[in-house]
Amino acid sequence: MRIIGLLGGTFNPIHLGHLRMAQALADALQLDEVRFIPSATPPHKVAPEVSAIQRAEMVRIAISDNPLFKLDMRELERTGASYTIDTLISLRKELGASVALCLIMGSDAFIQLNTWARWQELLNYCHIILVQRPNTIKQSKLADELAALLEQNYTESIADLSQKPAGYVHMQAISALDISSTVIRANLKTTHSIRYLVTNDVLNYINLNSLYG
Ligand code: ATP
Ligand code: MG
Repeated sequence: MRIIGLLGGTFNPIHLGHLRMAQALADALQLDEVRFIPSATPPHKVAPEVSAIQRAEMVRIAISDNPLFKLDMRELERTGASYTIDTLISLRKELGASVALCLIMGSDAFIQLNTWARWQELLNYCHIILVQRPNTIKQSKLADELAALLEQNYTESIADLSQKPAGYVHMQAISALDISSTVIRANLKTTHSIRYLVTNDVLNYINLNSLYG
């Protein structure tokens, strides 16, 4: 079965932490493809100061040299809040039932999963792959319903993920880089450089378009 990773995010801007994480998962899980899916209107964030089109453009630039990485624009083609469940339903329609979909999320995203629209339905459409992000508060207690979701659907086995198209939760150890878009935006408001946190082409795009000033 083909196995595709899905990495949703605001990508405001995309940074080396995202790219390294996607590559590490592609290697560990033997993914055939990783789709980067920029959120047009993130339901849980204040509206980003940089447009969805520009955030997506930075993703396109950042991944263009990697044949495994694809940009998926479907959330920009819808109106209203960008709900992951709608994206998954749309992907399933397009790709059919015989491909395994792995929704990738950092631990910071997972601890809030029970606030997502129709979150209980997500595993009907995909597996969930968790990666530990540096400096997320480890002790932060998982809500009971998320602990139950983990316990009932957890697999340690990577082979399981390509045995069925959806339904497992898997935690994958990677050496995640301690980079966040929040810190990058903060650096850009000062005179601090963001070199080596984003790709050179993304850095040039930000400068050329005077983003995050
Ligand atoms: P912000 O600080 O604006 O929230 P971010 O750096 O967290 O930005 P997002 O676009 O919110 O980036 O992240 C998209 C996805 O990538 C989330 O699931 C997040 O947990 C994950 N992620 C972001 N940065 C890293 C990183 N350095 N290592 C591993 N996962 C990451
Ligand atoms: Mg984030």
